Amino acid sequence: ATPTALLVGTGRAAQLGILIKGPEILESTRQVDTIVLDKTGTVTAGRMELADVLAPSAPVRRHVVGAAADTGVDDLRAQVLRLAAAVESGSEHPIARAIVTAAQSAARRTGATLPPVTGFSNHAGRGVSGTVDDGGTPRAVLVGRPTWLAEHGVTGAGPEDEVTRAHRHAERDGATAVVVAWDGAARGVLTLRDEVKATSAEAIAQLRDLGLTPHLLTGDNRAAAERVAAQVGIDPAHVMAEVLPEQKLAVVQDLQAQGKVVAMVGDGVNDAAALAQAGRQGLGLAMGTGTDVAIEASDITLVRGDLRAAPTAIRISRRTLRIIK
Ligand code: ADP
Ligand code: MG
Repeated sequence: ATPTALLVGTGRAAQLGILIKGPEILESTRQVDTIVLDKTGTVTAGRMELADVLAPSAPVRRHVVGAAADTGVDDLRAQVLRLAAAVESGSEHPIARAIVTAAQSAARRTGATLPPVTGFSNHAGRGVSGTVDDGGTPRAVLVGRPTWLAEHGVTGAGPEDEVTRAHRHAERDGATAVVVAWDGAARGVLTLRDEVKATSAEAIAQLRDLGLTPHLLTGDNRAAAERVAAQVGIDPAHVMAEVLPEQKLAVVQDLQAQGKVVAMVGDGVNDAAALAQAGRQGLGLAMGTGTDVAIEASDITLVRGDLRAAPTAIRISRRTLRIIK
């Protein structure tokens, strides 16, 4: 029979928006000493916004005087945003939503709509691709990491190329940035910003007080990840960046192999396998604002998407277990 205290504990948690799959899960919190936090959507709001559209390779027509001098660049920038948004409309990723939203409001000003796409394909942790009908001209468009574009034979995506350099600069500034390519050549860069949730720093301080060491895990670039880590008080040595979706699971396994008992908090499709793995010895916690796949893979759902519910869940469990002992 389930001890009454466990039922009371899970009931108390539920009132606070912490859904625990079964009372036996409380037992798992006892040994947890490490907490792995997904960045986008868990520590940050996951509502990215487009910051900039860069088209560094556009010819600057210096011989034209005045405002018209930039026309070529502006046309290319508009095309970069339009074609990227057309493909991204097939994706639910926060990067995709930001790009589509920005392009839609730009299009509304001119009464235009996003061009149609065929053959959309999503490449988790890498980017998206599809063929866009650009006013009658079909264009094979890719949006994503430069290394992934280079693997697809895109020219101008090498480390020393202009577009890649612009991408690198944006990343060094702590932005999330993707490269847009079509017809085999890199054309532009889109930079995005995401805000750390107001409650994340406090949540992480509370987790530390409970004796847990926080780690930050993301597919995003290192500078963007370290910027977030600095804002919430995570040691840069505990930042794991540029981790491909299929590697997130291995990150949790590695920590477990080092003898750590891991809790993980995530929200994405990409996090599901790692969340389930954390739950085998420790705990998987999903943001209720995240994907169903992450919720299904987890032991605990933090309904409100407030990271402070993670330390609360652990406190309730520990208190409950003390009552039983
Ligand atoms: P996170 O761990 O932050 O959720 P992901 O693993 O989903 O990140 O993505 C990692 C990286 O892959 C992104 O920073 C981006 O460079 C690229 N990427 C993923 N999805 C997309 C997309 N829809 N469009 C463009 N780039 C993408
Ligand atoms: Mg996420």
